[in-house]
Amino acid sequence: MPEVKCIVDTCTHYLYGDRCGAGNIDIMHENEQKMSVNQEQTMCKTFSHARNVFSYLGSADNVNWAGTVLGAVNPDYKVSPTIECTVASCKYWGEGSICIAEAIEVNGANSNECQDTNCITFSRRDGHAV
Ligand code: SF4
Ligand code: SF4
Repeated sequence: MPEVKCIVDTCTHYLYGDRCGAGNIDIMHENEQKMSVNQEQTMCKTFSHARNVFSYLGSADNVNWAGTVLGAVNPDYKVSPTIECTVASCKYWGEGSICIAEAIEVNGANSNECQDTNCITFSRRDGHAV
């Protein structure tokens, strides 16, 4: 399972140490009608803006609680969600919406919405029709 590093500190799932406390994240094309051809066209759909306590409640059903609690006390504790990815134009994409990279990195500091985030590990699959 790929390790997830994320710097999107405006997300309810963000844990210090650039970790993600979600149970599962969905990486998708920003525009479902168009295959991503670069990192900017991907997004973490699981992003939920940490505006107020209600956003935490809204995303509470998708929290890796054990990891979040252990991660909160130990900055070195490895916390990583499972990944479901629909970006088939990426060379790390595998049949069944899995990601076969060893690790991925999500960026988009100060993001306000999912579209501001990117999977920067995306690498265009050779010869993939877009
Ligand atoms: S943006 Fe995605 S990867 Fe980053 S903390 Fe939020 S849910 Fe996790
Ligand atoms: S590296 Fe590629 S396959 Fe893996 S999550 Fe990112 S876009 Fe999806």
